[in-house]
Amino acid sequence: MRVSSKKSLISVIQLIILILSSFLIWQVLHRPVKIDSDVYPYLSTITPDLVKQCVRDNSRTPTIPFEDLIAIRSTIPEIEAQELIAQLHTDVSFANLNWGKLSLDKLKAIKRHREILAKYSYYRPYKYTFPIEGTTWYEDSFGADREGGIRRHEGTDLFGKEGTRIVSVCSGKIEQLGWNRLGGERVGVRGDDGNYYYYAHLQYISPDLVKGARIAAGDFIGGMGHTGDALTTPDHLHFGIELPNEQWINPYPFLKVWQLWTDTKNPS
Ligand SMILES: [Zn+2]
Repeated sequence: MRVSSKKSLISVIQLIILILSSFLIWQVLHRPVKIDSDVYPYLSTITPDLVKQCVRDNSRTPTIPFEDLIAIRSTIPEIEAQELIAQLHTDVSFANLNWGKLSLDKLKAIKRHREILAKYSYYRPYKYTFPIEGTTWYEDSFGADREGGIRRHEGTDLFGKEGTRIVSVCSGKIEQLGWNRLGGERVGVRGDDGNYYYYAHLQYISPDLVKGARIAAGDFIGGMGHTGDALTTPDHLHFGIELPNEQWINPYPFLKVWQLWTDTKNPS
């Protein structure tokens, strides 16, 4: 009797250990991806003009990595940036730059910005595509009240004519496809960068799309419409970007830059 009760006590302890360790493993696997708090505030300050200037410099020989150019130009005044960029143009690498009288704080900031730009590739020339083919107009309405303040606007609305062609901004995998109450006809793409890209209120979805299949940047997604909770609003694409940590970010600064590249490629 005593031996068997001792045995059962041991199995209870074993069971508890098993449950605890499975719980810990589950916690580790489901931990939200950590994104440093300085990443998006910095990325949002970069203007399309600055990116344009840096992409132009990036196309000259010797090729200067675009993250070197943007990191320098976005951190220090242009006159100081010029001196450094002139060195890069003579084939001096970033690591061997002569920083002159630049303060340690500014040097640290440039290096940190370069790291961010290399890891978060929204500004890598022509990697992303503007989602609208045709005439569109949009402004920054991220965070605006919706349904009388019940929720906030978690994206950018791009207006245009019904049926205007909408394409995927990046390559990835189709994660959501079809109807939901708010989005109407909507498509969700898990980008290869880990973000979730959301296209809502479509008039129709391209019949070529298959849930779980791959999609490339520039692939046709559907026509612009006003389905879902946009039934009474003018035709527009609601475009959203959700980070792997489940935070929706403002797509507006990125859209502005992607539009610039698309316009450069297809001058009208
Ligand atoms: Zn919207």
